Amino acid sequence: MKNSVLFILVFALICMGCRQEPTLEETEVEEVETKNTSYQGEEPTKPEATEIYKPVPPKVTIDENGVPNDAIVLFDGSGFDEWISVADSTAVQWHLSDDQSMTVKDKAGSIQTKRNFGSVQLHVEWKSPAEVQRDGQNRANSGVFLQNRYEVQVLDNNDNDTYVNGQVGAIYKQSVPLAMASKPSGEWNTYDIIFHAPEFDKIGEKTKSGTITVLHNGILIQDHYELEGSTEYIGWPKNVAHGKAPIQLQDHQDNSRVSYRNIWVRELD
Ligand code: MG
Repeated sequence: MKNSVLFILVFALICMGCRQEPTLEETEVEEVETKNTSYQGEEPTKPEATEIYKPVPPKVTIDENGVPNDAIVLFDGSGFDEWISVADSTAVQWHLSDDQSMTVKDKAGSIQTKRNFGSVQLHVEWKSPAEVQRDGQNRANSGVFLQNRYEVQVLDNNDNDTYVNGQVGAIYKQSVPLAMASKPSGEWNTYDIIFHAPEFDKIGEKTKSGTITVLHNGILIQDHYELEGSTEYIGWPKNVAHGKAPIQLQDHQDNSRVSYRNIWVRELD
C-alpha cells in the first residue's frame, strides 16, 4: 500500500513537469505571429499558439475614495485649483462646502477645467437639492460638458417630466438615455463617462464621430452613442473642427443649486 501511494505521487510530479511554459523567445514569436495573422491562416492546434504575454497592462491601484492612482483629480473638495470661470477665465465663485462638495452659485456662471482633454474616462458625483423647486428643465438643471461642446444632462427628474432627449442622462437633444437611474432628490448620484473625442482632418472635415458611454449609478444609460455634433439648445448639432478642450460644469442660471464632488479623469489618448 505504502509503495503504491509513493508511485502515484511520483507519477503525478512527472506529469506536472511535462507541461512546460513557453520561453520568452517563443512567446515573442507567438505574439508577432498572432498579431500578423489576425486570426487568419491555418487554425492553431495548441493553446499556446493563441496566448499573448506582452505588453503587460500597467497596474492601477485605487485609494479609499475609489480614485485610481493614474487619474487626474479635478476636484476633491479642497479648492478650485483645477477650475476657472467659462465667461472670463477668472477664479471660480461657486460655493465650497465642508462636506468636500461644491455647489453652483446662481448667476456666477459655468466653470471649466484649466486643462484641455481629448478622450477620457470621467467620474463625477452630483446631487440635486432635497428641497424641490420649480419644474421641467428648471429643476436642478446642470450638465457635464465634454470638450465644452457635448453635454451629458444633469437634472432632477424625480416626479418631474420633461422632453426625454433633455432628461437626466440625455446627451442633450441627441440621445435619450436607456433608463432613468437617478437617486431620490438630495442624494448623491454618480456618472461614469467614457468619451472618445471626434477627429477632424486638416481642412476641418469630421473624419470620425465622437462617442459617449455613460453609467448612471452603475446603470448603463448611454451605450457608445455616436455624437452627431455639439449639443445645441436651439438648432441642429454643429461640427466645427476642434482639438482638446476643457470639461465644463453648467450653471443653468435658474438657482439650480446642484452640487458636485469627487471628480477625476483618466486620459485615454
Ligand atoms: Mg443642462
